Amino acid sequence: MFDKEYDVIVVGGGHAGAEATAAAANMGSSTLLVTMNLQTIGQMSCNPAMGGIAKGQIVREIDALGGYSGIITDKSAIQFKMLNKSKGPAMWSPRAQNDRMRFAEEWRMALENTPNADFYQEMVSGLLVNGNKVVGVKTSLGIEIRARAVVLTNGTFLNGLIHIGDKQFGGGRAGEKAATGITEQLVDIGFESGRMKTGTPPRVDGRSLDYAKMTPQPGDDNPEKFSYLPTPILKVQRDCHMTRTSQLVHDLLREGFDRSPMFNGRIKSIGPRYCPSIEDKINRFADKDSHQIFVEPEGWNTVEVYVNGFSTSLPEDVQYKALKSVAGFENVKFFRPGYAIEYDYFPPTQLKHTLETKLIDNLYFAGQINGTTGYEEAASQGLMAGINAHLKINEKESFILKRDEAYIGVLIDDLITKGTEEPYRMFTSRAEYRTLLRQDNADLRLTPKGYEIGLAKEERLKRMEEKQQKSEDFVSFFRKTSFKLEEVNPILMSLDSALVNQSDKLFKVFSRPKLTMDHMLQLEDVSTYVNDHNLDSEVLEQTEIQVKYSGYIEKEKTNADKLQRLENVRIPDNFDYSKLKSLSFEAREKLKSIQPVTISQASRISGVSPADISVLLVYLGR
Ligand code: FAD
Repeated sequence: MFDKEYDVIVVGGGHAGAEATAAAANMGSSTLLVTMNLQTIGQMSCNPAMGGIAKGQIVREIDALGGYSGIITDKSAIQFKMLNKSKGPAMWSPRAQNDRMRFAEEWRMALENTPNADFYQEMVSGLLVNGNKVVGVKTSLGIEIRARAVVLTNGTFLNGLIHIGDKQFGGGRAGEKAATGITEQLVDIGFESGRMKTGTPPRVDGRSLDYAKMTPQPGDDNPEKFSYLPTPILKVQRDCHMTRTSQLVHDLLREGFDRSPMFNGRIKSIGPRYCPSIEDKINRFADKDSHQIFVEPEGWNTVEVYVNGFSTSLPEDVQYKALKSVAGFENVKFFRPGYAIEYDYFPPTQLKHTLETKLIDNLYFAGQINGTTGYEEAASQGLMAGINAHLKINEKESFILKRDEAYIGVLIDDLITKGTEEPYRMFTSRAEYRTLLRQDNADLRLTPKGYEIGLAKEERLKRMEEKQQKSEDFVSFFRKTSFKLEEVNPILMSLDSALVNQSDKLFKVFSRPKLTMDHMLQLEDVSTYVNDHNLDSEVLEQTEIQVKYSGYIEKEKTNADKLQRLENVRIPDNFDYSKLKSLSFEAREKLKSIQPVTISQASRISGVSPADISVLLVYLGR
C-alpha cells in the first residue's frame, strides 16, 4: 500500500501536525499526514478561541511566514477583539472566538487543497530507525511507511489518561483513544520522558441558560483579523457573556474535594499554573469569594456553549450541582462534563533549535509533546519543524528565528535551552524585545524570511512591501509637513494646550502622548494625504506606531544588536566542558547536556552564571 518513500511523515493532525504538513508540502516535500482520526484534523481540544495575549502575536507570525493558522482563524471566527488596546502597541494582542466545527473543517479543506500532502488514518505505534537515523513509521496494523524525515506531534495522546472524579480511563481526548508504543520505544532508545496534566471545563446547552443574568461581552466595534492576506473581516459577531461563581458555588465544589483526583493524589503530574482548574483556584485563592466565568458560544449554528473558567476534574454530579448555582445557570443542561488528562511529554532540552532531536537524526518533535500548552504554541512549532525537516532532507541551511526576531524564536529557544517542568505557555514577559515583536509588524519581520525559504508566496511579499513603502512615505510626510496654527482644532487643543508652536513639524505634534491617528486625521493636510494615497487601516496603524514609539523601538534595536555580538560567538560542536575546571559543577553538567550553540544561548541556561560565561569567553579567546 505504501511502496513509495515519503520525504516527510507527520504523525498527528492537531495544530502542530496540520502546520507541519502544510509547511513541508508547500515547500515541495512529498508529505504524509498519519493521524488517528481524519475527522479531528485541526480539532480545538479545549476553548474555541485563537490568539490572546502573546499568543495572538504568534498566530500573526505563523501567517507572516506562510502558515495557515491565521487564515483558518479568520475564516471560522465568530468574534474578534484586540486585547490591551489601552496599553502600548507591544501589548496589543488579537484574539478571535471561533466556530469549533468550522475551524476543523477549514483546516481539513486547506490541507486537502495543498499539493504534495497525502493522508492516512491510523495510529502510529513506533518509528523505523536505522542506526541513529529515523527512516519511517510503523502503524498499529503493522504497516511500515518509509520517509526521509518524521515529525511527531502527538499532543495529549501519548499514554493519555482521563480523570473525572474517581473515574479514570485511557484516552487522548474525550471520546478518543490514547496512543501507545511511541513513548516506550523512545525511552528504550534513550530519550527522557515525563508526565504533564491539563484540564477542560464542561460544555452546556446554551438554550438552558439565562443570559439576562449575565453581562454581555461583545466583540470590537471595528473588528480586525489575523491574516495579512485578504481574508474576510467579520460583519456580524456573536456575543460572549460573563457571570461569576459565588461562595455557595465554592462550598458545593468543596463537597467533592475528597473525590477529586487533584487532591486525593491520583493525578501526580503538573498542570498549567496559568490556566488552573476551578477547584485549584478556590483552593489556592481561598480568600476570594468569586471567580469570573466567560460563557463562550461554540459556533454560529450550534447551541453548545463553552464554560471558560470552570475547568474541572471533579465528579460530574459535583460539577453539575455547583454550576447550577452560578447566576444564569440555574436550569443548565450538560452536553459534556469537564475532565483532566495526564499524558507523556519529552523534556524539550533533548532538541536542537530546529526541533530535530539530538539523539535521532531527521526526527522532529513539535507541539504539546514538547511540554507546551496551547494551539498557537503547538502550531508555531509544527510550522518550524515542517520547514526544517524539508530543509534538512534537501541539504539546505536550517531555519532558526532569533529571540529578537519572533515570539516563535523566544518559544523555541526557551524550550530547548531552559526546558520546562510545567506546561509552557507564551507571555509577553518572556520576550526581552517585545517592543520589536509586535502583532502589527510580524509581516515586516518575517515575510521576507518566509519568502526566502520558499514558503511565503510572492503575493504575500508584495503586499508586505507595499505596506512598508506606504508607511515609510507617510512617516516622511509627518516629518516634512508643518503644523498649521490656523488649523488648530479645538479638540486637539483641549487634549494638549501646548500645541501652539507653529514651527513644529507634524511628526513632533503627533509624538505627543495623548494624540492618536484619529486626531491627526482631523487635520486637512493629513486627511488629504490619506485619501490621495488610498491608505488602509494597516498602513495607518503602522505609521502611528513608527511615529509615536520610534524612540523605544530604536533603543530596543540597539540593545538587541549589542546582544547579537554574544550570539555571534559560536561554541564548537560537541565541546568538551569537562576540561574547563573553573566552570561551576552545575554549569558544567547543564552545558554538557544542553550543548548550547552560542555563548548567548549558554548565558540563558539556568545555573550558568555570568562568571561561567566569562570562563567560556576567555577559553574561546574573546
Ligand atoms: P493535539 O491538538 O492534541 O493533536 C494531536 C493529534 O495527534 C491528534 O490529532 C491525535 O489524533 C494525533 N495522534 C496522537 N498520537 C498519534 C499516533 N500515535 N498516531 C497517529 N496520530 C496520533 N491549551 C490551552 O492553551 N489552554 C487550556 O486550557 C487547554 N486545555 C486543554 C484541555 C484538554 C482536555 C486538552 C486535551 C488539551 C488542552 N489544551 C489547552 C491544549 C491544547 O489543546 C493543545 O496544546 C494543542 O491542541 C496541542 O496541539 P498538538 O498539535 O500538539 O496536539
